Amino acid sequence: WTPETIAVVTGANRGIGYEIARQLALHGLTVILTSRDSVVGLETTKVFQEGGLNVVFHQLDVIDPLSIKTFSEWVEQTYGGIDILVNNAGVSFNLGSDNSVENADNVIATNYYSTKNMTQAMIPLMRPSAAGARIVNVSSRLGRLNGRRNRIEDLKLRQELSNDESLSEELIDRTVENFLNQTKDGSWVSGGWPKSNTDYAVSKLAVNAYTRLVGKMLSDRPEGHRIYVNCYCPGWVKTAMTNWVGNISAEDGADTGVWLALLPGQPATGKFFAERREISF
Ligand code: NDP
Repeated sequence: WTPETIAVVTGANRGIGYEIARQLALHGLTVILTSRDSVVGLETTKVFQEGGLNVVFHQLDVIDPLSIKTFSEWVEQTYGGIDILVNNAGVSFNLGSDNSVENADNVIATNYYSTKNMTQAMIPLMRPSAAGARIVNVSSRLGRLNGRRNRIEDLKLRQELSNDESLSEELIDRTVENFLNQTKDGSWVSGGWPKSNTDYAVSKLAVNAYTRLVGKMLSDRPEGHRIYVNCYCPGWVKTAMTNWVGNISAEDGADTGVWLALLPGQPATGKFFAERREISF
């Protein structure tokens, strides 16, 4: 890999995003490290640069459409486009057995809508290449649609979301909006939503479904203009999000994301991965 390959990582000032940025830069790419906090982002970038890595900083608060617009314009003017996007930025407010949905709006907006908005802003900037551009969404097994545990109880909704014919952006948005409405009137408790980490699980379920949808939408692009989009679960990772519990390091949690971003040949698209293997949605 050469510095001509440009990768954008969101929420890269700490945790898994930091590690994805570091590992991509170690492969010789130029990494645009983004963070909503400029002070922390610049400090992190400086450390990488002092270590000889090709990392540049730009502020990006993924929840803010204006910040996405400013970032997109800067990318276009500075580099003309990008090759890799890693949608990593995310929030969770459920620690341990706490399953409040007090922050559901923020969780859905950050984890799902921001991933969607960044994807839509970056696709027009993705440069043609023989290897194909890449989008990697950092998701979670907690958002599995048809997992044995923690799934949506509504069979019809599960089937609609599972079926490529009925899957649409409108359906995904409608699902998360129904959930958010129910968090406001309290009916979410009996609404058949995932039982554990409910708002976070719904947000990641939406990310997964959106990944499948975009994978399908982009699948007919001609050779040289391909964009491969996949999501992955990093595992249970010791970061601030899990209050440093978990069973693997951020370094290991980043591994499958970096692997998906750099996979040679014609990789899968619209799929879900963990530990470098495809898993079911
Ligand atoms: P951290 O809390 O350590 O990092 C989250 C990162 O996202 C931070 O850099 C944070 O910035 C950033 N972020 C949050 N909101 C925004 C925003 N609006 N704009 C820009 N950046 C934002 O958590 P992890 O590293 O563990 O999480 C990274 C990803 O991995 C998330 O998508 C998470 O859902 C996913 N994941 C994590 C698992 C785990 O076990 N840790 C398991 C499964 C998935 P700031 O520092 O400013 O808050």
